[in-house]
Amino acid sequence: MFNRKIGIDLGTANTVVFLPGKGFIINEPTIVALSQPGSTVLAVGQEAKEMIGRTPDEIVAYRPLKDGVIADYYITKALLTYFIAKATPWFSWLKPEVVISVPAGITQTERRAVVNAAKEAGARNAFIVREPVLAALGAGIPINARSGHMIINIGGGTAEVAVIALGNIVSWTSIRVAGNKFDRAISDYVKKKYGLAIGEQTAENVKMEIGSAMVTKHKLEFQLRGRDLASGLPKDIVVNSNEIAEALAPLLMEIAESVKNVFNVTPPELVADIMEKGVILSGGSAQLGHLPEFFERFLGVPAYVAEDPLFCVAKGTGLILDHLDAYKRTLLNKR
Ligand code: ADP
Ligand code: MG
Repeated sequence: MFNRKIGIDLGTANTVVFLPGKGFIINEPTIVALSQPGSTVLAVGQEAKEMIGRTPDEIVAYRPLKDGVIADYYITKALLTYFIAKATPWFSWLKPEVVISVPAGITQTERRAVVNAAKEAGARNAFIVREPVLAALGAGIPINARSGHMIINIGGGTAEVAVIALGNIVSWTSIRVAGNKFDRAISDYVKKKYGLAIGEQTAENVKMEIGSAMVTKHKLEFQLRGRDLASGLPKDIVVNSNEIAEALAPLLMEIAESVKNVFNVTPPELVADIMEKGVILSGGSAQLGHLPEFFERFLGVPAYVAEDPLFCVAKGTGLILDHLDAYKRTLLNKR
């Protein structure tokens, strides 16, 4: 039997495409470059990202899922068309079945819009699964178990916290605090403390190299270059990981608060399960230094980073594709 299947993790920062038997074949920024006026799509993915900051005013780079909501049908279709075409060999006449991750807070209207966009983009059939379920699956959590599990998926645009039991989301929340805001907090901090302007990319680099969720005894240092706001000239400074922890603290507290809110609306038996087994962290931002310790300190519950946190959701789409017929009967029909 020849049945083409594609899993797509349409993340706020990165889109990861998974093919059964092949693994992750695409990992590119979720960005579309549009010409202005007219909003014609010029480029998608990596190519679109490379246009940022070095483009004439007539081109704007657009992140259609920036805050975890699918903002624009036309753009979503352009994205899906690009990724489905890239994942499908040129000689294939068979339209693929596609599993797509969507934010947990998606409305029925948005859900339908994504399905339609996927079909217009060349899919035979599109199945929409909420991201926390996929993240949990990909993190190796036995989602169909009776006992409760908590997944905290921190990506670029959103942090989603969900408790899963018996294959369903029992309680959840999504806040628009994640990697992109971490970057902004770092550049604001550097601007205020050192009078230095740094770009989005530089702030992200600092975060990935030495970023920390906790102040530690052994701090790491990073030299960065920005524009001195007083003189207007380039200037180098050295920042350390404890300064990054200080810059990120208010945002991390917001995420910890949202986790507490989810605990507050979760049945006590499931809370007990989670306190015993710990919470699982996924998403690219789960790689922030000392993040498990941060959650342990502020929530009093053990925390673990999933294997390959950046790929949990895409892996989850792969697991759904492997058992598509079974899931069609159960998971995919759940709202
Ligand atoms: P999304 O699913 O929203 O597209 P991802 O799960 O792909 O997001 O995560 C992207 C985010 O992860 C970005 O904000 C990026 O800066 C952040 N990130 C990647 N690697 C690291 C790291 N080592 N430390 C901290 N943040 C990281
Ligand atoms: Mg994601």
